Amino acid sequence: MLKPMATILIVEDDALLLDALSGQLAQLGYGVATAGSVADATALLQSQAVDGIILDLGLPGADGMELLHWTRAHIAGLPVLILTARDGVDDRVRGLNAGADDYLTKPFNMQELQARLQAMLRRARQPAFTQTSSAGPSSTTIGPLVLDHVAHAAALNGEPLELTLREWELLELLAHRCGEVVTRDDVLAAWRASPPEPGQPAAAPLNSNALEVYVHRLRKKLDASPLNIRNIRGLGYMLNRP
Ligand code: CA
Repeated sequence: MLKPMATILIVEDDALLLDALSGQLAQLGYGVATAGSVADATALLQSQAVDGIILDLGLPGADGMELLHWTRAHIAGLPVLILTARDGVDDRVRGLNAGADDYLTKPFNMQELQARLQAMLRRARQPAFTQTSSAGPSSTTIGPLVLDHVAHAAALNGEPLELTLREWELLELLAHRCGEVVTRDDVLAAWRASPPEPGQPAAAPLNSNALEVYVHRLRKKLDASPLNIRNIRGLGYMLNRP
């Protein structure tokens, strides 16, 4: 049996373009869902699972960027390709900084869109981190960051990263689920299951405030790299892929 292909949500208010795009993608075997506004798209995403979004920015009512922010906060890892008439460098940078996976300007070439869509979906299916054979199966490499799970040691840009036990545990958790949200409860549960940190009173409270302090410290230690720990409001934290 053929594996069903990915389902793509197209958010576009230009009815002609929406028709043409959905027709093309359906012909290629994609499942297609459509929305003409951010409100429609948000409602749809809450009731239906999709594998990727093609997003127009200029929409009636809320701007497409709002859907991008909403998606990043609620469905981490869902790939988004912006397809818009806004072709300024600022727009492009703003879109990519806000977490879009790709950016294509109108007018566009259908074959280029297909190629980019396929590449985006392929990237999204790849594991968040790779186990490197050169560093041994017990290590994780994310860009310039290497974690040695046996020695509980990390290196950044080839330099050892000095971490306390709690910082190490937090970083390991974030790295293991790179590109996904790690909730506060996940971190606190991991901390509570591990021995007390040397040099810290056993009763040092492990709560949200402590977590914020550790995240702050870790961010500083990752400062010299493209890695960045994002606050996902109301949920927790996410280590961005470089
Ligand atoms: Ca539009």
